[in-house]
Amino acid sequence: MKVLALRAVDATESRVPLTPDSVRKLVTLGLTVQVPSGLGECCGWCDENFTEAGAAISTDDAIGDADVVLGIAPPNPDTFQAMKAGALYVGFLDPVMNPARVKAIMEAGLSAVAMEFIPRSTFAQKMDALSSQASLAGYAAVLLAANALPQILPMMMTPAGTLKPARVLVIGVGVAGLQAIATAKRLGARVDAFDTRPEVAEQVRSLGAKFVEVDLGETGATREGYAKALSDEQKAAQQAAMAALVAQSDVVITTAQVFGRRAPQIVTDAMIATMRPGSVVVDGAVDSGGNVEGIVVGETVQRHGVTVIGVPHLARRVPVHASEMYAANLVNLLSHIWAPETEALSLDTDDVTMEACLIIQEGTLRNELIRAGQEASP
Ligand code: NAD
Repeated sequence: MKVLALRAVDATESRVPLTPDSVRKLVTLGLTVQVPSGLGECCGWCDENFTEAGAAISTDDAIGDADVVLGIAPPNPDTFQAMKAGALYVGFLDPVMNPARVKAIMEAGLSAVAMEFIPRSTFAQKMDALSSQASLAGYAAVLLAANALPQILPMMMTPAGTLKPARVLVIGVGVAGLQAIATAKRLGARVDAFDTRPEVAEQVRSLGAKFVEVDLGETGATREGYAKALSDEQKAAQQAAMAALVAQSDVVITTAQVFGRRAPQIVTDAMIATMRPGSVVVDGAVDSGGNVEGIVVGETVQRHGVTVIGVPHLARRVPVHASEMYAANLVNLLSHIWAPETEALSLDTDDVTMEACLIIQEGTLRNELIRAGQEASP
Protein backbone atom coordinates (compact mmCIF):
# COMPACT_ATOMS: atom_id res chain seq x y z
CA MET A 1 0.00 0.00 0.00
CA LYS A 2 1.65 3.21 -1.18
CA VAL A 3 1.07 6.39 0.80
CA LEU A 4 2.16 9.78 -0.58
CA ALA A 5 2.30 13.02 1.43
CA LEU A 6 1.63 16.16 -0.60
CA ARG A 7 3.28 19.55 -0.37
CA ALA A 8 0.60 22.26 -0.30
CA VAL A 9 0.15 24.43 -3.39
CA ASP A 10 -0.70 27.42 -1.18
CA ALA A 11 2.62 29.12 -0.38
CA THR A 12 1.23 30.38 2.95
CA GLU A 13 0.64 26.81 4.15
CA SER A 14 3.52 26.14 6.52
CA ARG A 15 2.15 22.87 7.90
CA VAL A 16 2.82 19.42 6.43
CA PRO A 17 0.73 16.24 6.55
CA LEU A 18 3.52 13.94 7.73
CA THR A 19 6.43 14.37 10.13
CA PRO A 20 9.44 12.04 10.40
CA ASP A 21 7.95 10.51 13.54
CA SER A 22 4.60 9.81 11.85
CA VAL A 23 6.40 8.27 8.84
CA ARG A 24 8.09 5.85 11.24
CA LYS A 25 4.71 4.80 12.62
CA LEU A 26 3.19 4.26 9.16
CA VAL A 27 6.20 2.22 8.04
CA THR A 28 5.86 0.07 11.17
CA LEU A 29 2.26 -0.61 10.16
CA GLY A 30 3.59 -2.02 6.87
CA LEU A 31 2.84 0.96 4.61
CA THR A 32 5.22 2.31 1.97
CA VAL A 33 5.61 6.06 2.43
CA GLN A 34 6.83 8.71 -0.01
CA VAL A 35 7.32 12.43 0.62
CA PRO A 36 8.39 15.17 -1.80
CA SER A 37 11.88 16.60 -1.39
CA GLY A 38 11.88 19.63 0.91
CA LEU A 39 8.50 18.77 2.47
CA GLY A 40 9.57 19.58 6.02
CA GLU A 41 11.55 22.77 5.29
CA CYS A 42 9.03 25.10 6.99
CA CYS A 43 9.27 23.01 10.13
CA GLY A 44 13.01 22.37 10.21
CA TRP A 45 12.87 18.72 9.06
CA CYS A 46 15.28 17.87 6.22
CA ASP A 47 14.89 15.07 3.65
CA GLU A 48 17.30 12.88 5.66
CA ASN A 49 15.00 13.06 8.69
CA PHE A 50 12.23 11.58 6.53
CA THR A 51 14.39 8.95 4.78
CA GLU A 52 15.94 7.85 8.10
CA ALA A 53 12.37 7.34 9.33
CA GLY A 54 11.71 5.02 6.39
CA ALA A 55 10.19 7.26 3.70
CA ALA A 56 11.38 7.48 0.10
CA ILE A 57 11.67 10.85 -1.65
CA SER A 58 8.91 10.90 -4.26
CA THR A 59 9.29 11.54 -7.97
CA ASP A 60 6.87 13.84 -9.85
CA ASP A 61 4.82 10.92 -11.17
CA ALA A 62 4.39 9.29 -7.72
CA ILE A 63 0.89 10.70 -7.40
CA GLY A 64 -0.49 8.44 -10.16
CA ASP A 65 0.86 5.39 -8.39
CA ALA A 66 -0.22 6.18 -4.81
CA ASP A 67 -3.06 4.29 -3.13
CA VAL A 68 -3.45 7.00 -0.48
CA VAL A 69 -2.61 10.69 -0.87
CA LEU A 70 -2.35 12.77 2.30
CA GLY A 71 -2.76 16.53 2.21
CA ILE A 72 -3.56 19.29 4.67
CA ALA A 73 -4.83 22.40 2.83
CA PRO A 74 -6.97 21.43 -0.19
CA PRO A 75 -4.96 20.80 -3.39
CA ASN A 76 -5.70 22.02 -6.93
CA PRO A 77 -8.16 19.96 -9.01
CA ASP A 78 -5.30 18.66 -11.20
CA THR A 79 -4.04 16.71 -8.17
CA PHE A 80 -7.26 14.70 -8.16
CA GLN A 81 -7.05 14.19 -11.92
CA ALA A 82 -3.50 12.84 -11.55
CA MET A 83 -4.52 10.25 -8.93
CA LYS A 84 -5.50 6.74 -10.04
CA ALA A 85 -9.20 5.84 -9.91
CA GLY A 86 -10.14 4.13 -6.65
CA ALA A 87 -7.31 5.78 -4.66
CA LEU A 88 -8.07 7.59 -1.40
CA TYR A 89 -7.44 11.30 -0.73
CA VAL A 90 -7.33 12.42 2.93
CA GLY A 91 -7.19 16.07 4.00
CA PHE A 92 -9.16 19.23 4.71
CA LEU A 93 -11.49 19.77 1.74
CA ASP A 94 -14.02 22.40 2.89
CA PRO A 95 -16.53 20.39 0.86
CA VAL A 96 -19.74 22.22 1.80
CA MET A 97 -18.40 25.54 0.55
CA ASN A 98 -16.53 24.08 -2.46
CA PRO A 99 -18.88 22.07 -4.72
CA ALA A 100 -16.40 22.30 -7.63
CA ARG A 101 -13.71 20.54 -5.59
CA VAL A 102 -16.15 17.80 -4.63
CA LYS A 103 -17.12 17.38 -8.29
CA ALA A 104 -13.44 17.07 -9.31
CA ILE A 105 -12.92 14.26 -6.80
CA MET A 106 -16.06 12.46 -7.95
CA GLU A 107 -15.11 12.78 -11.63
CA ALA A 108 -11.70 11.27 -10.90
CA GLY A 109 -13.42 8.22 -9.38
CA LEU A 110 -11.62 8.67 -6.07
CA SER A 111 -12.58 8.08 -2.45
CA ALA A 112 -12.11 10.99 -0.08
CA VAL A 113 -11.97 11.54 3.66
CA ALA A 114 -12.71 15.17 4.60
CA MET A 115 -10.95 15.84 7.90
CA GLU A 116 -13.65 18.40 8.74
CA PHE A 117 -16.10 15.50 8.99
CA ILE A 118 -14.26 13.36 11.56
CA PRO A 119 -17.03 12.96 14.16
CA ARG A 120 -16.66 14.76 17.51
CA SER A 121 -16.90 11.46 19.40
CA THR A 122 -14.79 10.20 22.26
CA PHE A 123 -13.49 7.36 20.05
CA ALA A 124 -12.51 9.65 17.15
CA GLN A 125 -10.84 12.35 19.29
CA LYS A 126 -7.41 11.03 18.33
CA MET A 127 -8.22 11.67 14.64
CA ASP A 128 -9.96 15.03 15.20
CA ALA A 129 -7.92 17.51 13.17
CA LEU A 130 -10.44 20.33 13.56
CA SER A 131 -9.78 20.18 17.31
CA SER A 132 -6.01 19.76 17.09
CA GLN A 133 -5.67 22.78 14.80
CA ALA A 134 -8.28 24.87 16.65
CA SER A 135 -6.43 24.51 19.98
CA LEU A 136 -3.31 25.99 18.40
CA ALA A 137 -5.35 28.69 16.64
CA GLY A 138 -6.78 29.83 19.99
CA TYR A 139 -3.28 30.08 21.44
CA ALA A 140 -1.94 31.94 18.38
CA ALA A 141 -4.86 34.42 18.46
CA VAL A 142 -3.94 35.54 21.97
CA LEU A 143 -0.26 35.95 21.12
CA LEU A 144 -1.16 38.04 18.05
CA ALA A 145 -3.35 40.25 20.21
CA ALA A 146 -0.73 40.55 22.95
CA ASN A 147 1.90 41.61 20.40
CA ALA A 148 -0.37 44.27 18.88
CA LEU A 149 -1.57 45.65 22.23
CA PRO A 150 0.36 48.70 23.49
CA GLN A 151 0.07 47.47 27.07
CA ILE A 152 0.81 44.29 29.00
CA LEU A 153 -1.78 41.64 29.86
CA PRO A 154 -1.03 40.88 33.54
CA MET A 155 -1.50 43.06 36.56
CA MET A 156 1.85 44.41 37.68
CA MET A 157 2.58 46.03 41.04
CA THR A 158 5.69 48.17 40.92
CA PRO A 159 7.13 51.00 43.02
CA ALA A 160 6.01 53.27 40.17
CA GLY A 161 2.42 52.18 40.55
CA THR A 162 0.05 49.32 39.82
CA LEU A 163 -0.82 48.33 36.26
CA LYS A 164 -4.30 46.89 35.88
CA PRO A 165 -4.69 43.57 34.02
CA ALA A 166 -5.92 43.85 30.44
CA ARG A 167 -9.51 42.84 29.82
CA VAL A 168 -9.94 40.13 27.20
CA LEU A 169 -13.32 39.12 25.78
CA VAL A 170 -13.57 35.75 24.02
CA ILE A 171 -16.69 35.25 21.89
CA GLY A 172 -17.25 31.62 20.91
CA VAL A 173 -16.01 29.02 23.37
CA GLY A 174 -15.44 25.86 21.35
CA VAL A 175 -12.01 24.27 21.17
CA ALA A 176 -10.25 27.45 19.94
CA GLY A 177 -12.06 29.71 22.39
CA LEU A 178 -11.19 27.53 25.38
CA GLN A 179 -7.52 27.56 24.42
CA ALA A 180 -7.67 31.34 23.90
CA ILE A 181 -9.13 31.73 27.41
CA ALA A 182 -6.48 29.44 28.91
CA THR A 183 -3.67 31.32 27.14
CA ALA A 184 -4.96 34.77 28.10
CA LYS A 185 -5.36 33.64 31.71
CA ARG A 186 -1.81 32.26 31.75
CA LEU A 187 -0.63 35.67 30.57
CA GLY A 188 -2.50 37.27 33.45
CA ALA A 189 -5.44 38.92 31.68
CA ARG A 190 -8.92 39.30 33.14
CA VAL A 191 -11.10 37.23 30.81
CA ASP A 192 -14.82 37.30 30.01
CA ALA A 193 -16.30 34.80 27.58
CA PHE A 194 -19.57 34.12 25.84
CA ASP A 195 -21.02 31.29 23.79
CA THR A 196 -24.55 30.53 22.64
CA ARG A 197 -24.22 27.05 24.15
CA PRO A 198 -24.78 27.62 27.88
CA GLU A 199 -23.27 24.22 28.70
CA VAL A 200 -19.78 25.67 28.17
CA ALA A 201 -20.23 28.03 31.16
CA GLU A 202 -18.71 25.50 33.54
CA GLN A 203 -15.65 24.99 31.31
CA VAL A 204 -15.15 28.77 31.13
CA ARG A 205 -15.34 29.08 34.93
CA SER A 206 -12.97 26.15 35.42
CA LEU A 207 -10.34 28.16 33.51
CA GLY A 208 -10.78 31.09 35.88
CA ALA A 209 -12.70 33.27 33.41
CA LYS A 210 -16.17 34.78 33.76
CA PHE A 211 -18.98 33.37 31.61
CA VAL A 212 -21.26 36.15 30.41
CA GLU A 213 -24.90 35.14 30.87
CA VAL A 214 -27.18 36.36 28.06
CA ASP A 215 -30.73 35.10 27.87
CA LEU A 216 -31.23 34.17 24.22
CA GLY A 217 -34.01 31.64 24.84
CA GLU A 218 -33.62 28.21 23.24
CA THR A 219 -30.35 28.11 21.23
CA GLY A 220 -29.95 24.35 20.81
CA ALA A 221 -27.14 22.33 19.30
CA THR A 222 -26.88 19.77 16.51
CA ARG A 223 -26.59 16.01 17.14
CA GLU A 224 -22.82 16.42 16.66
CA GLY A 225 -22.64 19.10 19.41
CA TYR A 226 -22.27 22.08 17.04
CA ALA A 227 -24.05 25.39 17.66
CA LYS A 228 -27.15 26.15 15.59
CA ALA A 229 -27.54 29.47 13.78
CA LEU A 230 -29.44 32.08 15.84
CA SER A 231 -32.77 33.62 14.82
CA ASP A 232 -32.80 37.33 13.90
CA GLU A 233 -34.23 38.21 17.35
CA GLN A 234 -31.53 36.16 19.10
CA LYS A 235 -28.83 37.82 16.99
CA ALA A 236 -30.12 41.26 17.98
CA ALA A 237 -30.20 40.28 21.67
CA GLN A 238 -26.66 38.92 21.47
CA GLN A 239 -25.37 42.06 19.75
CA ALA A 240 -26.95 44.27 22.40
CA ALA A 241 -25.26 42.25 25.15
CA MET A 242 -21.91 42.13 23.37
CA ALA A 243 -21.84 45.88 22.69
CA ALA A 244 -21.33 46.83 26.34
CA LEU A 245 -18.67 44.15 26.83
CA VAL A 246 -16.74 45.00 23.67
CA ALA A 247 -16.62 48.66 24.74
CA GLN A 248 -14.87 47.81 28.01
CA SER A 249 -12.43 45.23 26.60
CA ASP A 250 -8.82 45.85 25.60
CA VAL A 251 -8.80 42.71 23.47
CA VAL A 252 -11.66 40.94 21.72
CA ILE A 253 -11.02 37.48 20.27
CA THR A 254 -13.80 35.91 18.26
CA THR A 255 -13.95 32.21 17.34
CA ALA A 256 -17.71 31.72 16.79
CA GLN A 257 -18.61 29.26 14.03
CA VAL A 258 -21.65 27.34 12.86
CA PHE A 259 -20.61 24.11 11.12
CA GLY A 260 -21.23 24.09 7.37
CA ARG A 261 -22.33 27.76 7.27
CA ARG A 262 -20.79 31.20 7.08
CA ALA A 263 -19.59 32.36 10.53
CA PRO A 264 -22.07 34.65 12.30
CA GLN A 265 -21.33 38.38 12.24
CA ILE A 266 -21.23 39.50 15.87
CA VAL A 267 -18.85 42.46 16.31
CA THR A 268 -20.05 45.47 14.33
CA ASP A 269 -18.02 48.46 13.24
CA ALA A 270 -20.08 50.60 15.63
CA MET A 271 -18.96 48.36 18.52
CA ILE A 272 -15.31 48.73 17.48
CA ALA A 273 -15.76 52.51 17.50
CA THR A 274 -16.61 52.33 21.22
CA MET A 275 -13.33 50.59 22.15
CA ARG A 276 -10.41 52.52 23.59
CA PRO A 277 -7.84 53.48 20.90
CA GLY A 278 -5.00 50.96 20.94
CA SER A 279 -7.35 48.05 21.68
CA VAL A 280 -7.15 44.92 19.52
CA VAL A 281 -9.71 42.69 17.83
CA VAL A 282 -8.65 39.29 16.43
CA ASP A 283 -11.19 37.59 14.18
CA GLY A 284 -10.38 33.90 14.58
CA ALA A 285 -13.33 32.96 12.37
CA VAL A 286 -12.04 34.90 9.34
CA ASP A 287 -11.49 31.65 7.39
CA SER A 288 -15.22 30.99 7.34
CA GLY A 289 -16.42 34.55 6.70
CA GLY A 290 -15.53 36.21 9.99
CA ASN A 291 -17.34 37.37 13.13
CA VAL A 292 -16.29 41.01 12.65
CA GLU A 293 -18.17 43.31 10.28
CA GLY A 294 -16.07 44.14 7.20
CA ILE A 295 -13.16 41.86 8.12
CA VAL A 296 -10.88 41.04 5.17
CA VAL A 297 -8.91 37.79 5.08
CA GLY A 298 -5.23 38.46 5.59
CA GLU A 299 -5.60 42.15 6.43
CA THR A 300 -4.67 43.90 9.66
CA VAL A 301 -6.16 47.40 9.71
CA GLN A 302 -6.68 50.33 12.06
CA ARG A 303 -10.33 51.19 12.57
CA HIS A 304 -11.29 54.00 14.94
CA GLY A 305 -7.80 53.61 16.44
CA VAL A 306 -8.38 49.90 17.10
CA THR A 307 -6.17 47.21 15.50
CA VAL A 308 -8.42 44.71 13.72
CA ILE A 309 -6.62 41.50 12.78
CA GLY A 310 -7.85 39.11 10.07
CA VAL A 311 -4.94 36.67 9.91
CA PRO A 312 -6.25 33.41 8.39
CA HIS A 313 -5.36 29.84 9.36
CA LEU A 314 -3.91 30.77 12.73
CA ALA A 315 -2.53 27.26 13.36
CA ARG A 316 -0.05 27.91 10.51
CA ARG A 317 1.75 30.30 12.86
CA VAL A 318 2.99 27.32 14.87
CA PRO A 319 3.69 24.84 12.04
CA VAL A 320 5.84 22.36 13.98
CA HIS A 321 3.21 21.54 16.59
CA ALA A 322 0.37 21.94 14.07
CA SER A 323 2.06 19.41 11.75
CA GLU A 324 2.87 17.04 14.62
CA MET A 325 -0.75 17.03 15.78
CA TYR A 326 -2.21 16.78 12.27
CA ALA A 327 0.17 13.96 11.31
CA ALA A 328 -0.78 12.12 14.52
CA ASN A 329 -4.46 12.53 13.57
CA LEU A 330 -3.69 10.98 10.14
CA VAL A 331 -1.67 8.10 11.61
CA ASN A 332 -4.56 7.31 13.96
CA LEU A 333 -7.03 7.42 11.08
CA LEU A 334 -4.90 5.17 8.84
CA SER A 335 -4.29 2.75 11.74
CA HIS A 336 -8.05 2.59 12.20
CA ILE A 337 -8.78 1.66 8.57
CA TRP A 338 -5.69 -0.41 7.76
CA ALA A 339 -6.33 -4.14 7.74
CA PRO A 340 -2.87 -5.81 7.99
CA GLU A 341 -4.25 -9.30 7.30
CA THR A 342 -5.43 -8.26 3.81
CA GLU A 343 -2.85 -5.47 3.44
CA ALA A 344 -5.68 -3.19 2.32
CA LEU A 345 -7.66 -0.28 3.64
CA SER A 346 -11.07 -1.08 5.00
CA LEU A 347 -13.38 1.76 3.93
CA ASP A 348 -16.26 0.25 5.88
CA THR A 349 -19.18 2.67 6.08
CA ASP A 350 -20.83 0.58 8.83
CA ASP A 351 -18.07 2.00 11.02
CA VAL A 352 -19.44 5.21 12.60
CA THR A 353 -16.23 7.17 12.09
CA MET A 354 -15.92 6.28 8.41
CA GLU A 355 -19.63 6.73 7.86
CA ALA A 356 -19.15 10.37 8.92
CA CYS A 357 -15.88 11.32 7.23
CA LEU A 358 -15.74 9.23 4.03
CA ILE A 359 -17.59 11.83 2.00
CA ILE A 360 -16.93 10.24 -1.41
CA GLN A 361 -16.53 6.53 -2.12
CA GLU A 362 -15.11 5.55 -5.51
CA GLY A 363 -16.61 8.62 -7.13
CA THR A 364 -19.99 8.51 -5.36
CA LEU A 365 -20.95 11.31 -3.00
CA ARG A 366 -22.15 9.92 0.33
CA ASN A 367 -22.92 13.04 2.39
CA GLU A 368 -26.30 14.78 2.43
CA LEU A 369 -25.05 18.16 3.71
CA ILE A 370 -22.51 18.33 0.88
CA ARG A 371 -25.12 17.15 -1.65
CA ALA A 372 -27.36 20.06 -0.60
CA GLY A 373 -24.44 22.46 -1.17
CA GLN A 374 -23.85 20.93 -4.61
CA GLU A 375 -27.48 21.24 -5.63
CA ALA A 376 -27.55 24.90 -4.51
CA SER A 377 -24.43 25.78 -6.55
CA PRO A 378 -24.82 27.08 -10.13
P1 NAD B 1 -16.97 25.54 16.26
O1 NAD B 1 -15.60 25.88 15.75
O2 NAD B 1 -17.98 25.00 15.31
O3 NAD B 1 -17.60 26.86 16.92
C1 NAD B 1 -16.89 27.57 17.91
C2 NAD B 1 -17.84 28.01 18.98
O4 NAD B 1 -18.66 29.07 18.48
C3 NAD B 1 -18.81 26.94 19.46
O5 NAD B 1 -18.61 26.73 20.84
C4 NAD B 1 -20.18 27.53 19.16
O6 NAD B 1 -21.14 27.18 20.15
C5 NAD B 1 -19.88 28.99 19.17
N1 NAD B 1 -20.86 29.88 18.52
C6 NAD B 1 -21.59 29.68 17.40
N2 NAD B 1 -22.37 30.76 17.15
C7 NAD B 1 -22.10 31.67 18.13
C8 NAD B 1 -22.56 32.98 18.41
N3 NAD B 1 -23.46 33.58 17.63
N4 NAD B 1 -22.07 33.61 19.48
C9 NAD B 1 -21.15 33.02 20.29
N5 NAD B 1 -20.68 31.77 20.08
C10 NAD B 1 -21.15 31.11 19.00
O7 NAD B 1 -16.88 24.60 17.52
P2 NAD B 1 -15.80 23.49 17.85
O8 NAD B 1 -14.72 24.10 18.62
O9 NAD B 1 -15.45 22.78 16.60
O10 NAD B 1 -16.65 22.55 18.79
C11 NAD B 1 -17.93 22.08 18.35
C12 NAD B 1 -18.55 21.14 19.35
O11 NAD B 1 -17.87 19.91 19.35
C13 NAD B 1 -18.51 21.61 20.76
O12 NAD B 1 -19.69 21.16 21.39
C14 NAD B 1 -17.34 20.92 21.34
O13 NAD B 1 -17.40 20.81 22.74
C15 NAD B 1 -17.51 19.58 20.68
N6 NAD B 1 -16.29 18.80 20.61
C16 NAD B 1 -16.34 17.51 21.03
C17 NAD B 1 -15.22 16.72 20.93
C18 NAD B 1 -15.27 15.31 21.36
O14 NAD B 1 -16.15 14.92 22.06
N7 NAD B 1 -14.36 14.50 20.91
C19 NAD B 1 -14.06 17.24 20.40
C20 NAD B 1 -14.04 18.58 19.98
C21 NAD B 1 -15.18 19.34 20.08
